Amino acid sequence: MAVSNKVKGFMEQGSWIRKMFEEGIALRQRYGPDGVFDLSLGNPVAEPPQRFFDELRKIVDEQPTGLHRYMPNAGYAETRAAVASRLGEDTRLDFTADHVVMSCGAGGALNIVIKALLDPGDEVVIFAPYFVEYLYYADNHGASCKVVPPDDHFLPDFDALESTIGPRTRIVLVNSPNNPTGVVYGADVLARLAEIIRRKEAELDSEIFLVSDEPYRRILFDGMEFPHIFDHHDRSIVATSHSKDLALPGERIGFVAVSPRCNDADELVEGLTFCNRTLGFVNAPALMQQIVRHLQYTTVDVLQYQDKRDLLHGTLTDIGYSVVRPQGAFYMFPRAPTEDDVAFVDALRERRVLVVPGRGFGAPGHFRIAYCVEDATLKGALEGFRAAFEQFAA
Ligand code: PLP
Repeated sequence: MAVSNKVKGFMEQGSWIRKMFEEGIALRQRYGPDGVFDLSLGNPVAEPPQRFFDELRKIVDEQPTGLHRYMPNAGYAETRAAVASRLGEDTRLDFTADHVVMSCGAGGALNIVIKALLDPGDEVVIFAPYFVEYLYYADNHGASCKVVPPDDHFLPDFDALESTIGPRTRIVLVNSPNNPTGVVYGADVLARLAEIIRRKEAELDSEIFLVSDEPYRRILFDGMEFPHIFDHHDRSIVATSHSKDLALPGERIGFVAVSPRCNDADELVEGLTFCNRTLGFVNAPALMQQIVRHLQYTTVDVLQYQDKRDLLHGTLTDIGYSVVRPQGAFYMFPRAPTEDDVAFVDALRERRVLVVPGRGFGAPGHFRIAYCVEDATLKGALEGFRAAFEQFAA
């Protein structure tokens, strides 16, 4: 047996998205690419903005000496300074390059944060429905996740949060705009979270970090402003990437930013840098760092996602689905018209519509639609959503 029992178990439990991906390939072979409506993957349909290609071309033309060499493990000082400058403008806090570590995407960012902060046996509190990789990221570092259930609007159940935070809790991890719901935590929600964290810190005589996984923070709809966590808790850390806001998921570029108000920020950044090195990331990709330092004020066209949200949300509610209206990201998480989300996803698949069961995100009875797809794919799926709903509602 090549694979450990633990990894085998994880592979079985956490492979819903992968399973849909493989089914998509099989269905496309049978029905052709236009005959399958694959809404199972958060792979953005948008191409990177033109400015990305302009910066890339500049580098190719100039061929700067040493671009492809090793660098400090935290990343290029100029890139970290550019990230800090934008963060400072957004939050009015004194961010400098010394608060920023460039990472291999948000996934790399979260791994260095968890590794740097947690001892084996420590806990990360997460909120359902959640990005399933959190479970595995925590396990990578000998830690585990404790899950807080949502209310009907996919906001945290605050009483449950209070009772979930325990003596081994080191991180409370939020994800807003959220994958899979598209819900954005308002400043009031963050303030309440932080108040509970502070109360529990005093009660348990511990230090708890509020960590925000926010790769969708610039994909916001209806002119909404993004509420930052830094206003609410001194021990705050952002882990994010340009996978979605610049449509660069394949390029693995992101960063961690530690609040300048955090007491031990210097030590923490040193720890994060060490973990970047020793987890084998070494440093974030050099070429991408050189590009994104010029793109801190650039974002993909968000209106295209808002239009898709409007089309899909309007149609699903007309059909009769119960679905919370997303305020950002590019996911929707409707309630299935049966408790058995897997049976419902199967019924959709029979109509060549691919989505992911809610149990893959710790919320059975729902399903996730990733609507970051071409309009033709989205429109083609609508009839399947209607027919499958009618089959179960009948
Ligand atoms: N966090 C959430 C909530 C995500 O949805 C994703 C990717 O889909 C990630 C983290 C990982 O992002 P990255 O590709 O930048 O590692």
